Amino acid sequence: MTTKRPPTALEKMGLNSPMALALHLPSRYEDETELFTIEEALGLGRFHSIQTQGVVIRNQVMFRPRRQLLVTIEDDTASLQLRFLNFYPSQQKQMAVGAHVRVRGEVREGYQGPEMVHPTVRAVTPDSPLPASLTPVYPASAGISQTIIRKAVLQALRDASLKESLAEFLPTKLMAEILPTNDWPPLQDAITYLHQPPADANTQSLLERTHPAWRRVQFEELLAQQISLKRAHAIRRERRAPSFEKAIQKATSIEDSLLKVLPFKLTGAQARVWSEIGLDLSNTFPMNRLLQGDVGSGKTVIAALAAARAMDHGYQAAIMAPTEILAEQHYLKMQEWFEPLGVKIAWLSGSLKAKEKRLAQEMIESGEAQLIIGTHALIQDKVSFAKLGLAVIDEQHRFGVRQRLEIQQRVGSELFYCHQLMMSATPIPRTLAMTYYADLDVSVIDELPPGRKPIATKVVKAARRDEVISGLHDWLAKGLQAYWVCPLIEESEVLQLQTAVESFEQLTQALPNFKVGLVHGRLKSEEKAAVMAAFKANEIQLLVATTVIEVGVDVPNAALMVIEHAERFGYAQIHQLRGRVGRGSADSVCILMYAEPLSLAAKERLQTLRETSDGFVIAERDLSLRGPGELLGAKQSGDAMLRFVDLRRDAWLIELAQTAAERLLAEHGDLVERHLERWLGSRTEFLKA
Ligand code: ADP
Ligand code: MG
Repeated sequence: MTTKRPPTALEKMGLNSPMALALHLPSRYEDETELFTIEEALGLGRFHSIQTQGVVIRNQVMFRPRRQLLVTIEDDTASLQLRFLNFYPSQQKQMAVGAHVRVRGEVREGYQGPEMVHPTVRAVTPDSPLPASLTPVYPASAGISQTIIRKAVLQALRDASLKESLAEFLPTKLMAEILPTNDWPPLQDAITYLHQPPADANTQSLLERTHPAWRRVQFEELLAQQISLKRAHAIRRERRAPSFEKAIQKATSIEDSLLKVLPFKLTGAQARVWSEIGLDLSNTFPMNRLLQGDVGSGKTVIAALAAARAMDHGYQAAIMAPTEILAEQHYLKMQEWFEPLGVKIAWLSGSLKAKEKRLAQEMIESGEAQLIIGTHALIQDKVSFAKLGLAVIDEQHRFGVRQRLEIQQRVGSELFYCHQLMMSATPIPRTLAMTYYADLDVSVIDELPPGRKPIATKVVKAARRDEVISGLHDWLAKGLQAYWVCPLIEESEVLQLQTAVESFEQLTQALPNFKVGLVHGRLKSEEKAAVMAAFKANEIQLLVATTVIEVGVDVPNAALMVIEHAERFGYAQIHQLRGRVGRGSADSVCILMYAEPLSLAAKERLQTLRETSDGFVIAERDLSLRGPGELLGAKQSGDAMLRFVDLRRDAWLIELAQTAAERLLAEHGDLVERHLERWLGSRTEFLKA
């Protein structure tokens, strides 16, 4: 056992234990339990796979039009030709004249009458028994045959250790009280059933994964997830964090001074979420809260207030954003608000020169910097904070699960953790909130600052580009500003997209009385910052941009946005982009320009976006289209958390699992560890992110 050998193909797929094999469940089945006469097969086997058998009466290699093997079998009723375009000598031998074979495939009309092309062939005797169960087809990586996997799974199912690992230990009484029906089989039976369903099984419900055997497996998986979320919740409450009560000495409080210098009053919704967050910050365990609010709802000031509270207690606060532009916007805003109050701010991004970076890091390490703003650089580089009390993560869904874990690990230690505030404009659908985000408290800003105008969205063919440009001219002539958004920077022949550079040149020519600026991802960060500053100061009237402006940019005088090739953007992207306008006193307009032909999905998407600007409606549409992976950042982390559960299909199971988890933890604490081990193994840490 100890000798080193290269991993087998199965081990490479992670199938390295009886339990792993047992949980490698079929994706579909083939029905080899029924046998038809050749005459029946000729009639029934059109367009679907059918099984028949007979004796070989001809076996011939042909060379025209290409090398191929032709075999004819017959039984008492008829004969059937089999055609193989690729074949091995062993197959030729297996189907020697006089041999009995059982074949399975579709019957098609060939040049010389009906035939099966590349059927699966099995050597049999005339009275070989038929299998009693459906034949499983397993997910497999290329180059591994079904036969190998089937054998390994069968062997695993017979392994004595598996009986132990799949043993029923959930208390019967508890299960009976919680489960909606009593026809869910015990786990071991469910697993066996899914690998070897009997001939008369309901294949539809097996395929759709709604069969009671699937339900049992899904329930157990969700139960494990719920238990570990609840545990993470409890563990967080045992951790220590500095308690930030409201400062007592009002005169010197940064928080109160900030409220005084703000050019606006908090909306009711902002005041409410701030008191929720303030309460969290006063706890002695770390806050783990998501601040959710549609684009433009005013999340930034809440982050600033939380930072002020931490600084009032002598701690550092950090604000991290997913893009350089967004982080810079925060930096500028925080400078505007905090520098008059004497707060020292450090800026850290990937594009800083080595020396600047070192200086920033020194400020952070020495504690001189009270407020730190930056991009991923805050976790990527070796930054050590003198006394971090609060981490704010803007647009948290843009960070992967792994990255969020890293933030916790970077700023925390076994003994001491900082408070975390995440912010997002993308609402979390209920099913996700109940599963992946269950240990997250959520505050919602459900009210926009006063004076916001609804954004009129128009959908326009690219053929009317000239009209759009002349409308743009009139718009700018009124002293207003505008965005022109292009999807790609560089020429791509495949997509035939108008490039940002081309649009920039065309618009510069078409609008000679106005200054047009260009910002895209390839610019150096100083260049980007300079363009953004000029736009903000109205030195630039029209900003041509790639999606770098997607989040967080804030220029109230820019109330018109044209999005080129809108059909290539997703729901969330357009929603975010559109949120850049509608912030000032002018009526706001968003023009979605599309190139034809338009796919059905794109058409529906643009229509929905024209009809609604409700972030919740849009997020739901988005989720039903893409699945939770992208919202979670699971793609980035590469680990699918739920293997057997589909949150869209199985949402109703979540509540059951939640109740079961609560009761199990309360009444049968001893069983919890066993259940987690069985289902999650090493994946548990992801649930705490
Ligand atoms: P988001 O939630 O999208 O991050 P921001 O925090 O960038 O929104 O706020 C959008 C704009 O609204 C900013 O210009 C901000 O200064 C302004 N704002 C925020 N709160 C208020 C308020 N209570 N009254 C008026 N304007 C506000
Ligand atoms: Mg924002």
